[in-house]
Amino acid sequence: MAPSTNYYDVLGVKKDATVDEIKKAFRRLARKHHPDAGGDEERFKEINEAYEVLSDAEKRTRYDQYGQYFGGQVPPGYGGAGAPGGFGYQSVQVGDLGDLGDIFGNLFGGAGGGGATGVGFGGAGQAQRARPHRGRDLQIDLTVTFDQALEGTSTKVEIDREEACPTCGGSGAKPGTSPVTCPTCQGSGQVADSQGLFGFSRPCPRCGGSGRIIEEPCRTCRGAGKVVRPKPVTINVPAGVTDGGKLRFKGKGESGVDGGPPGDLYVVTHISPHKVFRRDGADVVMDLPISITEAALGTQVTIPTPGGGKAKLKVPEGTQDGKVLRLKGKGAPRLKGTGHGDLKVRIVVDVPTHLTERQAELLREFAEARAEDDAGLREHIA
Ligand SMILES: [Zn+2]
Ligand SMILES: [Zn+2]
Repeated sequence: MAPSTNYYDVLGVKKDATVDEIKKAFRRLARKHHPDAGGDEERFKEINEAYEVLSDAEKRTRYDQYGQYFGGQVPPGYGGAGAPGGFGYQSVQVGDLGDLGDIFGNLFGGAGGGGATGVGFGGAGQAQRARPHRGRDLQIDLTVTFDQALEGTSTKVEIDREEACPTCGGSGAKPGTSPVTCPTCQGSGQVADSQGLFGFSRPCPRCGGSGRIIEEPCRTCRGAGKVVRPKPVTINVPAGVTDGGKLRFKGKGESGVDGGPPGDLYVVTHISPHKVFRRDGADVVMDLPISITEAALGTQVTIPTPGGGKAKLKVPEGTQDGKVLRLKGKGAPRLKGTGHGDLKVRIVVDVPTHLTERQAELLREFAEARAEDDAGLREHIA
């Protein structure tokens, strides 16, 4: 085993660093030291190893308590020991339930390898590599401005994607070694299991049904055959995305395994607040303050429209507070289908709070003239 390294020092973070700080440090270092980018492979290994332990709450706790061996290393042979997780997964694979296999693959992939689950995944991972397997779907959140949502935009984001381990090329075995035939099942992946009158065969618990075990796991990926690497991805955001809407980018998820198709990337869009407008699906909503006299007498105002235009809006006489006036087709473009939503203008009647003596006098006079009309105003609640 390599001399003991301090994972916190490797990532250059404090011992009480948050998960976010660890992730940021990892991303920065992984980008800098990736062998493809001319970085030092040993250093890259260390960074990956440190990140895998420190980013996993369970492993980090164990590492803090017991140090490197128990925290991160998988003892040789342990990767094929067939934990219950790997075993359950194999039962499904044997039945070849297609999509269900994918779901289980996603579950295990998503588990990220904590403690016993990680070991189970190691076993299952070998079996996954034995046949084409679809890459995982990924999901990210993306915030765009109001105008970007209207017009569409192209933006670069960094996504943590799993990729084949650069050290072992994805085999999971230490360079110079390769997976060997499982001694328990002699490579068949099945063992006999007799119960009462019936003889069954079940997936081999040692190798998880793959027929092969990794005796010396690769140190970079600890036998998983994969490492996480932040990868820049360009996202083309179409015009008309909504707040909270979900876009699907086919094939932009994680790479497939053994020639399987890649997964999809889902992008949940959020729209940052605008000083005038807000989105309601393809409709755009705005508040329009008017005075009490404008509300009573009616008026015509010029208002801004989404995208930088202007429009004239007629406010009819007798318009009530809270009334919504619609400008057809002046909203956001529809993401699916054609045309635009509406611009919905919500009237906010502004009641004056400071009156001059002259204004107050006029209103009192007005109130007198209205006395008869206003008499029945609260009749219905009397
Ligand atoms: Zn590896
Ligand atoms: Zn076996």
